[in-house]
Amino acid sequence: MCQVEEEYHGPLQREELPSVSKQCMKCKEAGAAVVIRAGDAYCRGCFKEYFIHKFRAMLGKNRLIFPGEKVLLAVSGGPSSCSMLSQVQEGLSQNAHKKLRFLPGIVYIDEGGAVGQSVEDRRRTVDQLQAVFRATGFPFLVVPLEQVLDLPSSVVLSAPGAPEWKAGAYKAAVDHFLLSDGSSGVTAQQQQETPPLEVQEAHTHSLQRLLGSARTLTAREELLNTLRQHLLVHTARSAGYSKVMLGDSCTRLAVKLLSSISLGRGAQLAHDTGFSDSRYGDIILVRPMRDYSAKEIAYYNRMFSVPSVFTAGLETKTADKSSIQRLTESFVTKLQADFPSTVSTIYRTSEKLQSCKSLASAGGDRCLLCVCALDTAAENASAFSATLISEQLSQTQSPEQSRPAPEAPPPASQCCSAVGGEACGNRGGGCCSSAEASEPPPLRSLLCYSCQLTIKDLSSEEVLPHYILSEAQRRLRRSQLREEIRDFLLEDEADEG
Ligand SMILES: [Zn+2]
Ligand SMILES: [Zn+2]
Repeated sequence: MCQVEEEYHGPLQREELPSVSKQCMKCKEAGAAVVIRAGDAYCRGCFKEYFIHKFRAMLGKNRLIFPGEKVLLAVSGGPSSCSMLSQVQEGLSQNAHKKLRFLPGIVYIDEGGAVGQSVEDRRRTVDQLQAVFRATGFPFLVVPLEQVLDLPSSVVLSAPGAPEWKAGAYKAAVDHFLLSDGSSGVTAQQQQETPPLEVQEAHTHSLQRLLGSARTLTAREELLNTLRQHLLVHTARSAGYSKVMLGDSCTRLAVKLLSSISLGRGAQLAHDTGFSDSRYGDIILVRPMRDYSAKEIAYYNRMFSVPSVFTAGLETKTADKSSIQRLTESFVTKLQADFPSTVSTIYRTSEKLQSCKSLASAGGDRCLLCVCALDTAAENASAFSATLISEQLSQTQSPEQSRPAPEAPPPASQCCSAVGGEACGNRGGGCCSSAEASEPPPLRSLLCYSCQLTIKDLSSEEVLPHYILSEAQRRLRRSQLREEIRDFLLEDEADEG
């Protein structure tokens, strides 16, 4: 397990292509067909076995997906999510004791409108994907991203989680499932044909105006990711699914981990990159492909003819430095080529992360966009308060430079930013005094640090979808009301006791 040694030998072994002379490290009989890492040479059969085992092991280790549970597979058409789809098929076709026992369905979010594809191109892509989906026999949904404009506000609220989180619940569910002979029900799902999608041109225009209002590609990508996730969660909820499987590979997650840090999403890292993501409460997002590198997936898909469909994204054909996400991706790709073991080290870090307990247990409001616990009220030593201080400093750049630096401001939720438009009663107390001219727009007070940065890059907040704006109104009205009646409220009883 010496990583230094691995790095030193890396370049040597990269030149060593699999050949007939090299043997499979597993069965020591057949010739190697694929070399995943230096020293890991597999024959075709053993590679397949290893790949399939890894998927089952990931699900088995985490014990989150219950037998008979409806699981929605989010398939983008890319190699990784298509590989995930084929693994689920594989798992369902296994003999009894190894068989996966959940009920899969597929969802494809058609983002063609967001990236300016023509109606014909979108239709062609959807046709190709539908052929792939039909072949699986699973029910599937094709949802145009435009539908995000019609979502209800409930999507940005965290619903109470399912009661099945207790220890031992998984085993009980399996036993119950086996007793009730549930195994016969797994394949009984009917595949329904969804009617071909009709997208109104006006909706596509609104979506494009929304994404176009982002002044940077970084913000545009963040916004698109957020909208996509909202639509996925809503689709799962309305179709009765309780888990959503995402196809993020280990390479993808390494990129996400590093770019999330750069984007100020440190507090949300565990949610953004972990195996399971419970921020939405009743709908859990899971990432069963997180142990596979992009390279492994590419090999597997090619050797076992797993179909995938190319779909253009925002980043397609953009330069390395066009966005933080794109730059991180090119960095990780180059890192992978020169130092193969470091990428998995980055990714392993994500396994050890836990969400900020102090934030999660606070039970307060969640970010209006990413639905994570608000990190803006954390403590004074956060990147958020550092930014606030430096903003204040740059504003107070005046001849009287000798002034001492202002104190760290109180958490945003206690200050004027929480009150819609109204100046807070704290005017003399230093909080609002320096920020009179540039009082932050009220909507920003409802966002985590990172989402505030994204919204700051929009030319207007008015272009945000109705479900976000109306929920913002509701929260601002509520906190304003709370502020108004604050003097009449009883003190926290915990303090008195
Ligand atoms: Zn072998
Ligand atoms: Zn957020």
